[in-house]
Amino acid sequence: MTRITCKFGGTSLADAACIREVLAIIRANPDRRFIVASAPGKRTPDDKKITDLLYAWHSIARQGLDASEPRRIIEARFTELARELGVTFDIDSHLREIAELAGAYETPDYMASRGEYLNSRLIAEVLGAVFVDPADCIKFKASGELDPATYDLLGARLQGGGLFVVPGFYGAMPDGSVRTFSRGGSDVTGSIVARASKCDLYENWTDVSGFLMADPRIVPNAKRIEEVTYKELRELAYMGATVLHDEAIFPVSTAGIPIHIRNTKDPKAPGTMIVAARESHTPVCGIAGHTGFTMINIEKTLMNKEKGFGVRVLSVFDEFGVSWEHMPTGIDTMSLIVRDQELKGKGDAIFEAIQKRTDPDELTITSGLAMIATVGQGMNHHVGVAARLTGALARAGVNIRVIDQGSSEMNIIIGVEEGDLKSAIQAIYETFDTWT
Ligand code: ASP
Repeated sequence: MTRITCKFGGTSLADAACIREVLAIIRANPDRRFIVASAPGKRTPDDKKITDLLYAWHSIARQGLDASEPRRIIEARFTELARELGVTFDIDSHLREIAELAGAYETPDYMASRGEYLNSRLIAEVLGAVFVDPADCIKFKASGELDPATYDLLGARLQGGGLFVVPGFYGAMPDGSVRTFSRGGSDVTGSIVARASKCDLYENWTDVSGFLMADPRIVPNAKRIEEVTYKELRELAYMGATVLHDEAIFPVSTAGIPIHIRNTKDPKAPGTMIVAARESHTPVCGIAGHTGFTMINIEKTLMNKEKGFGVRVLSVFDEFGVSWEHMPTGIDTMSLIVRDQELKGKGDAIFEAIQKRTDPDELTITSGLAMIATVGQGMNHHVGVAARLTGALARAGVNIRVIDQGSSEMNIIIGVEEGDLKSAIQAIYETFDTWT
């Protein structure tokens, strides 16, 4: 028998009609036994997300002000959900308990987690399922990393028949206090639950029919990706593809459990499968990119003969706690590409330190760069991928400022001026779209 974990995102659980669709999906397949729920999301574009209201409540309470407004809206949302779904749910007593702790903690984690907690309690009630509180069995180490003991602890709670509902987004620190993942973190919980319950499949139900080969705001007719490997997806996510939280891959990838991205509004759609290895070797499976990069170029004659030159440059980044993304090099040149947000407030001091430590012939800074990743594991079986890519960019009149191919031959990263981001992605998409 197959065992499936299903995670439902906030827009899939925004109101009673949505939740009914979710219930139908769960009931349609008895293998769907482990349910991970987000907090109710927006019903309309200008609606409020429950999680955002809870962050607001925390901040108001910390300032000692009156938080009756967010509390009232949350109460109304859950009262309506319970009524329309036909269950008794004592939202008032839950909110009284939450209100008591609203300003108790310095960080908002406890408050932010309550949307998932309440929604999962409600859904467990509707389904007649066992509710499992992650505060008891998803554990973080003091460093903030997930404690691997989680898998056994949580696994033990997910034994036996029937349905289980686990709130997404949070766990607990060694002292028992609630700690959330970063925003969108219910995806990570889903992955942890799939591994702890030894599932064969992790279905991640969201509001889109899978990953597209490129951002549809840039390439409106972008094709859906049928199958993508964990590694390919990491590259795409890192460069801006956002359907799945970028930490959600690790728990399942080490166990080889595939993730199926599916659309609650279109449950018959095939979605995107994320797997360890894929059969079809189309050279390029996706293109992602974004703006906000700066390149630091260091030039020095006979740099390669100078012992410890590179180490001295990198030690500057290390000391300032700034991470860099790419490092293309030449014989007498070395460039580092860094996200602008990493350099914020530290840029000048970093440049000065590099100048002092390396005494370069020239040190230049190029800001306003966009980086674009063209990703596909099939690339290493194909001759001429880079030629095709650069040819397409030349025809589109895009100047390539920097190019970097990972040694895994799974991606080619190019840097272009920010203003060229869209036309570059369009040109790359068009040239690889039909190439097999
Ligand atoms: N509700 C949380 C958020 O809005 C977590 C999640 O939905 O995954 O970020």
